[in-house]
Amino acid sequence: MSTAAETPAPAPEAPAFAPLRLRPREERRLRAGHLWVYSNEVDTRATPLAGFEPGEPVEIQAADGRPLGTGYVNPRSLICARIVSRDRRHPFSRSLIVHRLKVALGLRERLFEGPWYRLVHGEGDRLPGLVVDRYGEVLAVQLNTAGMERARADVLAALGKVLRPRAVVLRNDSPVRELEGLPRTVEVAWGEVPETVEIEENGLRFRVPLAGGQKTGWFYDQRDNRARLARYVRGARVLDLFSYVGGWGVTAAARGAAEVLCVDSSGAALERVAGNARLNGVDGRVRTLRADAFEALARLRAARERFDVVVLDPPAFVRRRRDLKAGTEAYRRLNRMAMQVLARDGILVTCSCSFHVERALLARLVHEAARHVDRNLQVLEQGHQAPDHPVHPAIPETEYLKCFVLRVSLA
Ligand code: SAH
Repeated sequence: MSTAAETPAPAPEAPAFAPLRLRPREERRLRAGHLWVYSNEVDTRATPLAGFEPGEPVEIQAADGRPLGTGYVNPRSLICARIVSRDRRHPFSRSLIVHRLKVALGLRERLFEGPWYRLVHGEGDRLPGLVVDRYGEVLAVQLNTAGMERARADVLAALGKVLRPRAVVLRNDSPVRELEGLPRTVEVAWGEVPETVEIEENGLRFRVPLAGGQKTGWFYDQRDNRARLARYVRGARVLDLFSYVGGWGVTAAARGAAEVLCVDSSGAALERVAGNARLNGVDGRVRTLRADAFEALARLRAARERFDVVVLDPPAFVRRRRDLKAGTEAYRRLNRMAMQVLARDGILVTCSCSFHVERALLARLVHEAARHVDRNLQVLEQGHQAPDHPVHPAIPETEYLKCFVLRVSLA
């Protein structure tokens, strides 16, 4: 093991850092722990943003020239720079990425027995703009900023060194790439990416699509919330809306549900639900319905179908702040309709992964939905994203997943 005293001079691959100078007093948020610089905080006379290339490595400096850290800049983005390292001896470089990956891996190895988890959660793992999901020996990587895109070779080399993966897919299709002026693509970075991979969660097995297809991967963030289902589903009729490949529905069946209906608009996802039900020996108790979730709810209600447990885990309805009004209304309507197909004293598990819909707002609009249809709610449990999605306490955006377990009673 090397000690600090033995650490050689800065690694040779460390990039050259151009200075990025802030305006007076704009360093305070960074000193308090934040990692982002907004474009209006830059002293553009000293360091014009137009003089930088997207993703260029920079040293971020206070107005008096004192260094705050190294990272990267993107003149095209509102968040125009992010700090990756505050330590001058270990600036943003391939070897720093290796170090951060090892720290991230250490946490996951402590948390989980098997190699199925989110390995890197961006700022939450002090690797701004980088997301890595691990599927055993296959990695799915998202380079969500111009800085990480530019460091692609270093990121891949670092992943190769720390994990020796068999294959890596670059799932650079996230909408956040557009805010950075980056194209949305999916490419194989190396190896042969299999069509599907098998993962384990809470002792159950799931086959997950990876290559091809639009929606791929697994939502590891719900692991602990899916585990909560066990105590509510014994002998129950369960409705899993937006089921994708059956994370909730198959878990419910495996934990003793009498009958599960998984609804999704994607036929390919529902084929996987059936496969995953078989994989866990519960295929006799899991049915699928290909439909729009709202339409399915209306039809189920008209047919007087009732469920003891309804799970609502939709895609983000509010991706941008300007969608807040329409998205909020969609959550309200969806929750109201779900309550209308719940049996007496039923359980509603309702989630939102929209960062802009804060926990208090989700609680309020679910409550409003209940009042609208004359139901009373009891909040039984509140869930967050699983710990392989660590939250950076200074950066609210790293915390996004809300889950409520509610009992819904007639007024
Ligand atoms: N609950 C899932 C994650 C949801 S991903 C899990 O635990 O893994 C979002 C899913 O919603 C996708 O499978 C997508 O096909 C589906 N979807 C999106 N809009 C829909 C709609 N209007 N009706 C039904 N399904 C929809």
